[in-house]
Order: sequence, then structure tokens, then C-alpha cells
Amino acid sequence: MITKKYFLYFPRSETEKPLVYHLVKDYDLVINIFRAKVTPDEEGYLILDITGTEENIAQGIAYIKTLNVTVNETVRGLRWDEDKCVSCTNCIVHCPTKALYIADQKTKRIAFDEEKCIECLSCVKNCPFNACTSVF
Ligand code: SF4
Ligand code: SF4
Repeated sequence: MITKKYFLYFPRSETEKPLVYHLVKDYDLVINIFRAKVTPDEEGYLILDITGTEENIAQGIAYIKTLNVTVNETVRGLRWDEDKCVSCTNCIVHCPTKALYIADQKTKRIAFDEEKCIECLSCVKNCPFNACTSVF
């Protein structure tokens, strides 16, 4: 069993399709949805973990792609802009998974580990310098 994180974008025509239901029922996958949004224009965004065998995940992703849904393994919903971060450390206490952490105790330089990010957006609300933003 492996787990992979995906960013999905649904065009207007596809937002009503029961995609998660089919991934679970037809491909024996476990789905953990971090974040979902349908815009006023009825476009959809979904960030989720998919757990299953490599083969089942590949088949499930192939199914999703037949639905005109854009699948991206590298895009994340949370962006941390190192250039804007002044390492004020305000976000540290608000990040539940330590995805944002002090990388250097002497300088208090902050770093971001995107693998640990669960997309809670707490840092977006608590960064005074707009270094943390959501892509949707
Ligand atoms: S709150 Fe913003 S500026 Fe301050 S350390 Fe965190 S990301 Fe950097
Ligand atoms: S979105 Fe949540 S988990 Fe991710 S870096 Fe921000 S506070 Fe941490």
C-alpha cells in the first residue's frame, strides 16, 4: 500500500460527477480529502490523499483523467514564499504539523516541509507578511 497526494481541478462540466465514490468502490482506494472548493463559476478544486496499491491508484487516476479532470502530483494548495518570509516565527505555533518550522535555531530562519502540510490554512490567516497563500 502506498499513499499519494494529488491536486485535482474540475472544469464546470465535471463538478457534479461522483468521482470519490468511484475511486473507493471501483478501485478499492482510501481517500482522505484535505480541502475542496467549488468557485462561483462552478469550477472545482480538490486536494486529497489516495491510499491503495500502486496498480489501483494508477487505474483510479486513469479513470479520473477520462472525466476531463486535471490531475497534478506536484501542485500544492498552500504556497510558502521564501522571499516574503521574514522569519518572524508567528506561524510556528499555528502550524499543527510542524510543516513550517525553525530550520536554524541561531538565526531563527523558517523553512517549509510541504510533505507535512495538511492544508489547514492556519498559516495563511496568521502570516502578517503574506508569505503563505492558498492557490484557491
Ligand atoms: S508568519 Fe509568515 S513571515 Fe512570519 S515566519 Fe511564518 S511564514 Fe515567515
Ligand atoms: S496550511 Fe496548515 S499545515 Fe500547512 S503549513 Fe500552513 S499551518 Fe502548517
